[in-house]
Amino acid sequence: KLLLEVKDLTAVIAESKQEILKGINLTIYEGEIHAVMGKNGSGKSTFSKVLVGHPDYEVTGGSVVFKGEDLLEMEPEERSLAGLFMSFQAPVEIPGVSNIDFLNMAYNARRRKLGLSELGPIEFYAYIFPKLDIVNMKTDFLNRNVNEGFSGGERKRNEILQLAVLGAELCILDEIDSGLDVDALRDVAKAVNGLLTPKNSVLMITHYQRLLEFIKPSYIHVMDGKIVKTGDISIAKLLEKEAQALFSNMVERIC
Ligand code: ADP
Ligand code: MG
Ligand code: MG
Repeated sequence: KLLLEVKDLTAVIAESKQEILKGINLTIYEGEIHAVMGKNGSGKSTFSKVLVGHPDYEVTGGSVVFKGEDLLEMEPEERSLAGLFMSFQAPVEIPGVSNIDFLNMAYNARRRKLGLSELGPIEFYAYIFPKLDIVNMKTDFLNRNVNEGFSGGERKRNEILQLAVLGAELCILDEIDSGLDVDALRDVAKAVNGLLTPKNSVLMITHYQRLLEFIKPSYIHVMDGKIVKTGDISIAKLLEKEAQALFSNMVERIC
């Protein structure tokens, strides 16, 4: 079943009107994992932020349909309530709000949207407790303030916990591999894999092939303002070779 359909999407930076997205076309069905790769500055993060409705960007053309609805007409909160989840490359700190209160609030908002009753603190604790295992977290983690003083790995795991609690249909992971060592990456990837069902889909943005060894994509797209190439895992290997060739050229020139 069709989940997301992006057609000829163009967007500019709101402030400068500089065009960053130059006609993106992408179709995602339920249960698929799509990887988006591309060099730094190619618009990968901009694309994901436009999908969640980030105010720094202005859509200038094209369309995005999510679960049969016009995504671009929805407020950012509505998009998240509709089942779109995004992990940020740089997650925000929320001082003074504990992790568990934040998650409880977010989850209740989603339940209201689904026509379900809200969970009180005790019920919510029972709901979240088994999920801590997925991300390999101790319970004291829940009482800390959102992202305050978290290490890089803890931030990423916290985002996966958010995902486990909220249960999104489309999950956008923007460089969840950035700044993680291989062990932390394996943990995070295992958690993501554990959350995959035939009903939900992942759009993962990455710079490196390494992540693709842990989370296997159905498709890989190469981005450069728009999607310029689509294929399977062999594309990632090709990209890495190109990067290596470029690097050895540079070394030759410098030495
Ligand atoms: P990627 O994630 O592929 O590295 P980005 O989407 O972050 O690329 O950025 C694409 C281009 O747009 C870059 O040149 C970046 O500097 C610019 N850009 C993105 N967001 C902003 C912003 N809010 N203000 C100014 N420039 C931006
Ligand atoms: Mg970048
Ligand atoms: Mg980026």
